[in-house]
Order: sequence, then C-alpha cells, then structure tokens
Amino acid sequence: MKEGKCPKCNSDNVYSGVEVYPKSGPFGSNSIPISITSIAALDNYVCVECGYLERYVAETEKLHEIADKWQKVCFPASTDNTKE
Ligand SMILES: [Zn+2]
Repeated sequence: MKEGKCPKCNSDNVYSGVEVYPKSGPFGSNSIPISITSIAALDNYVCVECGYLERYVAETEKLHEIADKWQKVCFPASTDNTKE
C-alpha cells in the first residue's frame, strides 16, 4: 500500500494522509493509545477505488514503545482452531 498499490483490488488510486494535520491530539481520532501517557499517530492509506484502508504507526520510536509495553500476541493460542 505504501508503494501506491491496493492489495485488495490492485488499483493504483491510493491516497495517503501522511501530511494531514492534526494526526493526533485531543481532537484527532487518527491515533491509538499506547499507554496512559502515550499515544501514537497513524498514517492512513486509502484506496479510492474500493475504499480499502491501511494504517501505520507513524513514528518508529512508538513502535519500540509498543514492543515494550504491550503484550505480544502468542500463536497458536489454542490447538483446536485449525480451520481458517
Ligand atoms: Zn482497492
């Protein structure tokens, strides 16, 4: 998606909200909470053909913070859920 190609419909009509302001803050919903004192701004990539949306955490330091503070998803969580 960051290369300008929609993974769902293969369109190259992909637009990025990387420059949209504000990305985060009290009035921006374009962010996720990491901890009680920290939020991470997100970059949005939207395909205007099918509406598919991808979001990325904008800052690498926030990624480190998430790795630090969040619980890692363990796989497999259970063994009797083998069918997709
Ligand atoms: Zn698409």
